[in-house]
Amino acid sequence: MIKPDAVGNNHIGPILAKINEAGFRIVAMKYTRLTPETAGRFYEVHKERPFYGELVDYMSSGPIVAAILEKDNAVADFRTLIGATDPAKAAPGTIRALFAKSIAANAVHGSDSDENAAIEGGFFFSQLERF
Ligand code: UDP
Ligand code: MG
Repeated sequence: MIKPDAVGNNHIGPILAKINEAGFRIVAMKYTRLTPETAGRFYEVHKERPFYGELVDYMSSGPIVAAILEKDNAVADFRTLIGATDPAKAAPGTIRALFAKSIAANAVHGSDSDENAAIEGGFFFSQLERF
């Protein structure tokens, strides 16, 4: 997912270019917006964390781009491409180092396992929308 800060700052194009250059295939993509309810469910795993309320507000504050990406070793390779959660700690050249504003508004979301990638893809796409 390209998060509201990156969409609002016109970083969709440069981020998609990085994703393509790193060898990912885009198999589904959508420009949309999360409601507070959907954002709350998407990040439900974090609901006991102190930043949950702000995260839900932020993620529903503007449009996002949702995409399903395909590649060998996609989960680990995508997390390498995006860098650490806190952009101040993200390696140089990573998407978060280049485009993120803060630890909350950190430009992109990446799934943390194949299982969660399947669940998270289901928030935005049906089987018929994947190519
Ligand atoms: N987040 C935050 N404050 C924190 C940690 C995380 O606002 O101290 C937000 C941030 O947007 C992050 C998301 O919550 O991307 C999910 O956190 P997670 O630890 O899963 O990081 P990620 O997997 O996105 O790197
Ligand atoms: Mg995570």
